[in-house]
Amino acid sequence: MRILAIETSCDETSIAVLESKNDGSFNLLSNIVSSQIKIHAPYGGVVPMLAKREHQRNLLPILKKSLQESKLLKISNFPASPAGGQFLISKQTSNSKTLNLKLKNLKTILDREPELLKKLLPFLKKYQKPNIDLIAVTNGPGLEPALWVGVNFAKALGYFWNLPVMPINHVEGHIIANWLPQPENKIPPTLPLKREELDSSPSFLKEGWGGFPSSVHFPAICLVVSGGHTQLVLMKKLGQYKILGETRDDAAGEAFDKLAKMLNLGYPGGPIISQIAAKLESKIRNSKSPPAPPKGGGLPPFREGWGGFSPIVKLPRPMLNTKDYDFSFSGLKTAALYFVKTLSPAQLKKLTPAICVEFQQAAIDVLVSKTIRAAKEFGARTILLSGGVAANDLLRETLKRTTYSLSEVEGSKINFSVPPKEFCTDNAAMIALTAAMKAVSLFIKGGLRGISKNEIPPRLLASLKLWRSGPFTKGGAKYNWQKIRVDSNLRLA
Ligand code: ADP
Ligand code: MG
Repeated sequence: MRILAIETSCDETSIAVLESKNDGSFNLLSNIVSSQIKIHAPYGGVVPMLAKREHQRNLLPILKKSLQESKLLKISNFPASPAGGQFLISKQTSNSKTLNLKLKNLKTILDREPELLKKLLPFLKKYQKPNIDLIAVTNGPGLEPALWVGVNFAKALGYFWNLPVMPINHVEGHIIANWLPQPENKIPPTLPLKREELDSSPSFLKEGWGGFPSSVHFPAICLVVSGGHTQLVLMKKLGQYKILGETRDDAAGEAFDKLAKMLNLGYPGGPIISQIAAKLESKIRNSKSPPAPPKGGGLPPFREGWGGFSPIVKLPRPMLNTKDYDFSFSGLKTAALYFVKTLSPAQLKKLTPAICVEFQQAAIDVLVSKTIRAAKEFGARTILLSGGVAANDLLRETLKRTTYSLSEVEGSKINFSVPPKEFCTDNAAMIALTAAMKAVSLFIKGGLRGISKNEIPPRLLASLKLWRSGPFTKGGAKYNWQKIRVDSNLRLA
């Protein structure tokens, strides 16, 4: 079964093709990601209408590239006939439907994406229907104008090529990215766990979903941290999620982005801040006389000296000790802002690295502490990290180490999983894999068996109900993604 997946929820336009095989393995045939970072950078954040425009511009070239890389792009055998400018679409669909009728309907589907329509028409004329079985598309959560471009594009392709379209939740996609190829997560099955062993072990456990090689055991606690989301999710098994807590204001990535804007560092803030912090940290580590460790509380006055290191910058850890699993990052950002306001331009320049170190540490302290507490409370056997902020080296390292030391204390084995960095930030590969899991779980209960291609489209139509009745289509990207939960039998929750 081959799946074409489309992701346009924010500022990355991405299309991937994934081939899932009958033995449960899969091949990622392509995963093209085009980032709009440069376009949004001057604004210090994503501008929804600009994102919509860029998705319209980018989708067709990316589709072409993705199909090309997957070796699925073939010139059409049915050139335009001279009579009336009409031509046959394909052998199957040619009987009654002419191109003109199809084109008319495409115009309706892409009514609000005229620029995309203009590019799509010649493409559909020029190339054959590719050999794929299903189209998957992110239908939320995300920026509404951006999401609609992808959704309508998927609908248009599904309609023209007569393929089922499966809506996929973006946050679930981030979680499922943990099942994408991940060389750094090969974890041996036995205690005692030593870091060196963990890092070098070639063994893979086979447990969980349909034989996908995975080091993930359930229940799992998933920390999803990105530019738009910060959620702590209890995953009882594949497809079953419960949100334990989430941010009450800014997402973690958003806080990084806002701090970077405040410090005039550029966009997106996460990678820049972590780079600056890492530089200072390594300088401190290599220093013969490192500064005294920070003493808690308050914001001490600026002090000249050792590179302005963080003993003089102390930021709060919002909601660190609250009993719930919620987060808050706007307080952290505001505390940083108040501190920055007390500084002269020269002081700010000098202290910027120290602010980055402390801000990153404050965010990580809260994220890691709550994740570990949830893992203990719910008896997690795996901790999963994902989303754009999961690309942060210090967060990856800290959560990994803390998980393993928790394993030693608790005496039970707790695995840790994080996708490779390229699959942490938005990409369509994770959407394709989520769709593959859902599609296959339609047919399988308790094991994996051969999937007959002919069976797929009618059964998948069940998932399209969701499409029509889902909260997203009622307007508004603000909906509870739990609502589109699908269990292993693909019953809609
Ligand atoms: P979303 O799914 O919300 O659209 P992504 O998953 O693409 O977002 O994540 C983008 C976010 O990740 C941005 O806010 C960016 O600052 C943050 N990010 C990326 N790399 C890092 C990093 N190394 N450290 C911290 N944050 C990061
Ligand atoms: Mg993004």
